[in-house]
Amino acid sequence: MTTGSRQIVIPITELEQSAFCKTDGNLRTLTLEEEFQAGVRWQKVPIRYLKMTPEEVNDGVVSAREVLGDQVIVLGHHYQREDVFKHADFSGDSYKLSRLASEQKDAEYIIFCGVHFMAETADVLSGPQQTVILPNMAAGCSMSDMAQTEDVEDAWEDLTSVLGGEDEIVPITYMNSTADIKALCGRNGGIVCTSSNADLTFDWSFERSKRVLFLPDQHLGRNTALKMGIPEDEIIVWNPYALMGGHSPEVIRRARVILWQGHCSVHTRFTSQQIQASRDKYPDVNVIVHPECTREAVDAADYVGSTEYIVKMISEAPAGSVWGVGTEINLVNRLAKENPDKTVFCLDPIVCPCATMYRIHPAYLLWVLDGLMAGLVINPIKVDGQTAIDARVALQRMLDVAG
Ligand code: SF4
Repeated sequence: MTTGSRQIVIPITELEQSAFCKTDGNLRTLTLEEEFQAGVRWQKVPIRYLKMTPEEVNDGVVSAREVLGDQVIVLGHHYQREDVFKHADFSGDSYKLSRLASEQKDAEYIIFCGVHFMAETADVLSGPQQTVILPNMAAGCSMSDMAQTEDVEDAWEDLTSVLGGEDEIVPITYMNSTADIKALCGRNGGIVCTSSNADLTFDWSFERSKRVLFLPDQHLGRNTALKMGIPEDEIIVWNPYALMGGHSPEVIRRARVILWQGHCSVHTRFTSQQIQASRDKYPDVNVIVHPECTREAVDAADYVGSTEYIVKMISEAPAGSVWGVGTEINLVNRLAKENPDKTVFCLDPIVCPCATMYRIHPAYLLWVLDGLMAGLVINPIKVDGQTAIDARVALQRMLDVAG
């Protein structure tokens, strides 16, 4: 047995999550120096970037892109702030962006405006001649940080010591995990999933095995399992800080779904009370939430789906319809702007962006572009050889299952 009772370590990204929350609804980009006051960890940058106005930064990015031309592509995740997102050549969720990155064979440099695990996945899927760059190395992900490699390796050892091999348990990891965790899945007969194909990967896993270990988001795992009709008493949560995850061998043997005790700090803010308040205000509201939300919020919503699903549903909705949305505020604000004939609002009255996504300030984008113009590659993301090979196995299984 490898796990034991240990001190609970809350990821620093989780502690920092509310750093940019506001009640006045204003998410205007400030100078980097002013934004440093938020008190989170930022990567150090040369001093000249600190005082540049948003307009100066914007002009600098536009000029640098003109000079660098096709050798650089910029990818922008839906949760990026507008002043970064507008420079993106491609936008989407993490998986769509990684695939797009792998298709851009001519681009020597892929600047990923997102968070660390996304840049890693882009590196795994991109060609050997391409370099992926993350503008700010402090842009992590609290959910991903909740599944540390050593803890997951210990848990896997414990589970297989109780249960046996691959026909007893298969690991599934959500895209929002480190390359190390994807590689662990690849090595152990497992698979990667996204929020839009988690059910297909459950089916794939249950064709091979009696159980799944789902990492790192307990809510996506639980919502998927319940939607597939798996009874609640066959779903348990693995606590990495407790002996054997907090369960007896009998309980582990009875379980069909073992959920890692992780969550998204952004999506767990949405509650059934917020949903009820939106229904009180707008009786004809359509409530749509992301499956990283809690079961309670998912049960109270009308529609549940991935970021791409939310974008599609609202974009294609009839004029005059009303949408209460449970996902990251930068995307909700953008959807509201792009759909002026509809009422689109965030279910959470407090404006609370993902604090790691938000750390891609446009000055960081300018910094890495300036670096490339000077012949310097700042913040390259490189997954080591064997980890990349194993992670690619798990990613390829997902592609084979879900296309
Ligand atoms: S929204 Fe949640 S899962 Fe996505 S990067 Fe932020 S903390 Fe991670």
